[in-house]
Amino acid sequence: MALTARTRKTKRKKALARALTCDGCPALCCHYIAVATHTPLERLDYELMRWYLVHSGIAVYIDEGEWHVYVEARCRHLSSTNRCSIYSRRPAICSEYGIHECERHTDEADPDITFDTLEEFERYFRKNFRFWGDRIVRKAKPSKKTGRRRKGPVASKRRKRATAARKARS
Ligand code: SF4
Ligand code: SF4
Repeated sequence: MALTARTRKTKRKKALARALTCDGCPALCCHYIAVATHTPLERLDYELMRWYLVHSGIAVYIDEGEWHVYVEARCRHLSSTNRCSIYSRRPAICSEYGIHECERHTDEADPDITFDTLEEFERYFRKNFRFWGDRIVRKAKPSKKTGRRRKGPVASKRRKRATAARKARS
């Protein structure tokens, strides 16, 4: 019987997981937590990100478009030999974490963009976002043809309104 692509992928993952081991790893995955957050939408979000990043041991990262706050924190149940001391009752987040996709065995665990400092975040923000009052809007991507940024939806609405008003006056 022919295997579906999904079955093949699951089998491959299982085989890979069997071949991999945590032996000798300093338990990289037990030294931090990551908390999902949302894309900055308002000035307050921007200031929150800046506040997170002035603290040591904190980073903000974007992975597949999702924003997260990374907090360095050693699990208090990690033994001195880097073993989980509550293995049978460890949180589901731990038991569901796949060895085949962990930071030791693959760079899939590497986020797309990481900000370790305030300056990195601010630079990225200036390049990709701007304030609209207290709101944050994404800057339009530069046109492939001209290299210039296209007008965003708000700007084009204003332009249309201005044109309509001019026509009405004439
Ligand atoms: S899952 Fe990966 S990072 Fe975590 S202890 Fe095992 S090898 Fe290390
Ligand atoms: S509960 Fe166990 S598996 Fe989970 S982070 Fe702590 S030591 Fe690691």
